[in-house]
Amino acid sequence: MNSASMLLVEEAQKIVLSAVTRLGVERIVISHALHRVLAEDIAPGYDIPPHDNSSVDGYAVRAGDVRTASSSTPCTLDVQEVIPAGTVPEKGLSAGQASLIMTGGMVPEGADAVVMVENTSDANEQHVNILKPVTRGQNVRYRGEDVRTGETVLRAGTVLGPGEIGLLASFQRSFLTVFRQPTVAILSTGDEVVEIDEPLTRGKIVNSNSYSLAAMVREAGGKPVIPGIVGDTEEAIREAIESMMHVDIILSTGGVSVGDYDYVKKVLVDLGADMKFWKVRMKPGKPLAFGVLNGIPFFGLPGNPVSCMVSFLLFVRPALRKIMGNEDLFLPIVQAQLGNDVNAGGDRRHYLRAHVSFEGGTFQATTVTGQGSGMLSSMAGTNGLVIVETGTTSILRGKIVSVLLMRPAF
Ligand code: AMP
Ligand code: MG
Repeated sequence: MNSASMLLVEEAQKIVLSAVTRLGVERIVISHALHRVLAEDIAPGYDIPPHDNSSVDGYAVRAGDVRTASSSTPCTLDVQEVIPAGTVPEKGLSAGQASLIMTGGMVPEGADAVVMVENTSDANEQHVNILKPVTRGQNVRYRGEDVRTGETVLRAGTVLGPGEIGLLASFQRSFLTVFRQPTVAILSTGDEVVEIDEPLTRGKIVNSNSYSLAAMVREAGGKPVIPGIVGDTEEAIREAIESMMHVDIILSTGGVSVGDYDYVKKVLVDLGADMKFWKVRMKPGKPLAFGVLNGIPFFGLPGNPVSCMVSFLLFVRPALRKIMGNEDLFLPIVQAQLGNDVNAGGDRRHYLRAHVSFEGGTFQATTVTGQGSGMLSSMAGTNGLVIVETGTTSILRGKIVSVLLMRPAF
């Protein structure tokens, strides 16, 4: 395949997204709902708050009774009862009457405002002096003022964070319908790759890809499944892939370039996968096989640790988000001022690892030294990828560049 047939990143993303479809749904308990994606529209079965209640500790009154109140000429009202939060008032208020009420207490019939306790004096069980007027509705939280019965407040596709979960709890929604979490198999291929706890003998390298990928799968909302390392033989690769037919997405790392032992592509074709593309015009990460095998999206990611991670962020993450019902597919791209001179470019788009910060209203991006596709230290502590378009040779410090944010810049 010559370089002219390499896909642009956006073309490849489009192909990936059109080849994947949303997963089914499941019912879960609300305590497991953080970061899950709602699969139903939610409307409460009752008003929130469910009853008019006081927002302060004080006296429920009729505003008209205390229009002339001041510290020098207080209005004296007859106290009816005490209304702690959680109880139902027994008495309504007529002219000249008040009830002592606590924050959250139900406002009694006839009352239309609450005077803060700080604006009263000489209170006893029979009487209270009101020192300041109140307007109608003052210090009252009305029934339904937050959310009304039947009003859709959360829609399918919403990612559930602490605020949404609190709101759902206030509706007594202890169970929720959410999109299923995708399971993602991660196969690391390579005869040179050893497990994290195996002796690192000469010529070997430690499997880091399974760990970085599993972390990214989790961060994107999926569940990683790690069957282990697969040797560089057709049989081993075929067997490993065939044993993963129960997952939602399969990732492999390594074995997708043009080396003598790069069998992933051949095995996929032999197994009858519908291969969509092999290469993307980007650096790091040119070799990237994508296809669909027995209905399961398969990403053959490059073995180089940085290429593998950047390819995940650009292609696998959006696919994962789409299948789990999350409508926010792509990482944000911001405009940033370059903090250093950059020499990069050529016939592929470059993604340079950078520190991005937000200072004085603008983003600043400084690339790190050591941009090799195997230099994993460039992915540690960095939060952005400076995008250098094809055909560029260098960009001077101070220029505005596009930066893909891997994580927030503040
Ligand atoms: P490959 O794509 O198989 O040619 O591998 C490219 C480079 O990535 C080689 O230097 C491999 O040693 C390295 N590599 C492959 N798999 C892994 C892995 N699981 N963890 C870390 N590095 C890897
Ligand atoms: Mg290899």
